Amino acid sequence: MRLIFLGPPGAGKGTQAVFVKKTYGLAHISTGDILRAQVKQETELGKTAKGYMDAGKLVPDDVIIGMIRERLGEEDCAKGFILDGFPRTVPQAVALAELLKSMGRHLTAVICFDAADDLLVERLSGRRTCRNCGAIYNVSFHPPEKENVCDACGGPLMQRDDDREDVIRNRLRVYKEQTAPLIEYYEREGLLRRFDAGGAPDSLVALVAELAGKDDA
Ligand code: ADP
Ligand code: ZN
Repeated sequence: MRLIFLGPPGAGKGTQAVFVKKTYGLAHISTGDILRAQVKQETELGKTAKGYMDAGKLVPDDVIIGMIRERLGEEDCAKGFILDGFPRTVPQAVALAELLKSMGRHLTAVICFDAADDLLVERLSGRRTCRNCGAIYNVSFHPPEKENVCDACGGPLMQRDDDREDVIRNRLRVYKEQTAPLIEYYEREGLLRRFDAGGAPDSLVALVAELAGKDDA
């Protein structure tokens, strides 16, 4: 399966991607995670990206497209993948289509995560991530057993720099302006499937199972 998880920040794309990845043996490609790793390692790419990320703005398309081109060529993508946080603009979607075409591949579906703004802000401001293993928690909805300690590895939990209220508002605005048009784009392509990200994740599990059953590639 080759899936795109499309939706606003805080909709739970990353959290759900981890489950789907494990169940189906797919590669989980989060452009946000790749960028944060580059920032941490202080690479040239990381230095370029940091200013945009801290402001809640999008990193330029050419940087992101180059990154994805490289990543999709890696071996673990052969069995399928989940794109989480990419594409985020129409030019990125067009570049992805060309890239897949050149590889002789096609998308299985684009899953659109829907949720109300208030819920997104609440989720993002309560989000905590493990510094060691990247596991995601939420102080209200999914707290760790011990405050600020990762259940999985015992590592310290941290808040992302861009999960501050002012930056969150900006990210939601950028989503509406630049990413939401992709909903219509993929609807026209006949690839769009919707998922109510405000409710229980069961319906996503069922949807992905249905897609897996029909997948011919
Ligand atoms: P979220 O979905 O919670 O906003 P991500 O981890 O996907 O967070 O992205 C964090 C930041 O990384 C974004 O605000 C943006 O600056 C940058 N980024 C991630 N993916 C892309 C992309 N496909 N295009 C442009 N910028 C991106
Ligand atoms: Zn951890």
